[in-house]
Amino acid sequence: MAIVSANMTDRNELIARLTALTRDLVLIPSTESRPDERRRAVEFVANHLEALDGIDIQRHRSRGYESLVALPEGVDQPEVLFCGHVDVVEHAHLERYGSTVENGRIIGPGAGDMKGAVAIILELFRQWQSRQPGVSIGLAITSDEERGGTDGVRYLLEDQGLRCGQAIVPDGGSLNDLTVAEKGVLHVRLTTMGQTSHGARPWLGDNALQRLLERLQPINDHFMRDRPTHIDPDGDHWFTTCTTTIVKTSNTTANCVPDDAEAVLDIRFTPPASVSMIVDKVKELAGPVVGVQPMMQAEPSHLDPDPVFRDVTEQVTGRPVRTVRASGGSDARFFCQFGIPVNLSRPNVGQLHADDEWIDIESMAVYFEICDTYLRQKFA
Ligand SMILES: [Zn+2]
Repeated sequence: MAIVSANMTDRNELIARLTALTRDLVLIPSTESRPDERRRAVEFVANHLEALDGIDIQRHRSRGYESLVALPEGVDQPEVLFCGHVDVVEHAHLERYGSTVENGRIIGPGAGDMKGAVAIILELFRQWQSRQPGVSIGLAITSDEERGGTDGVRYLLEDQGLRCGQAIVPDGGSLNDLTVAEKGVLHVRLTTMGQTSHGARPWLGDNALQRLLERLQPINDHFMRDRPTHIDPDGDHWFTTCTTTIVKTSNTTANCVPDDAEAVLDIRFTPPASVSMIVDKVKELAGPVVGVQPMMQAEPSHLDPDPVFRDVTEQVTGRPVRTVRASGGSDARFFCQFGIPVNLSRPNVGQLHADDEWIDIESMAVYFEICDTYLRQKFA
């Protein structure tokens, strides 16, 4: 009985600690437009690691984006690397970034993606390094995942040569959903130029906006052709999609024919298609008058999670694990490029990127236990 109650106290303490850490992180509005706040969020993590002896904390900066790698001294390629990001998407109308706790959930911008998960991996790293100093576990924290990871995880792996045996990235899937593949991504900008004229005499001009809109439809139709007519919300949505996310012109006058226009498409594609195949197809469909500039791009990736992690998840949750193929991309893809296996699952989260984004507190403790048990199996 005494042991049980001690464990309960430990668990309650863990939950209180993870909740407080998450809420402190949510308070920092670490968005794209606020470089100081992104730096502050990385600083916050660094401060929590300072009390640990024998840990080397490397701070990095690429084009204004801060990141941090914490490793035991003398270890440069940890067997296990936890990886998370502290940036959150912009909420233009929000005056204050903060959270509430209701019905067992922490609700606030970034709680689910992924400040709650950062709290967990920070606490795991801290506990393991104090309990078993020098254990071959590392922690990488970046601040540009939401804009593509170029100056975060890509930078750490490609430019700084960071490697590990196994990466754990709690930024996709769910508690019992282990991600095995992610779609490829292409964000592409389309531009047209025309000739301005009075709106009453459009034949004198060349409407760049109209021209662009005419080209968008066949592109959308082409990439959406494999989409099933009925989409099962719980199914895995392993088909190519294309959606127009931005359309604009510099023209602001109602009776003026616009002489420039721009659109951005977000295309998510499945293998065997590749970035270059998708770019070529967009160029072909857009035709010669439309400029095509690829922006963010990523090949489809195959994640290869550790079967031991899968078994441990089933053992801790008492429920079977589903392997899923994800529509969204994550930083996991950079590890895949170097042949590093990734465990990509996470606590239960919802309303991602909305104001009322949430993370389920109980599932945070369960995810902690999954990782903790996995590490015990690896390092016992
Ligand atoms: Zn994320």
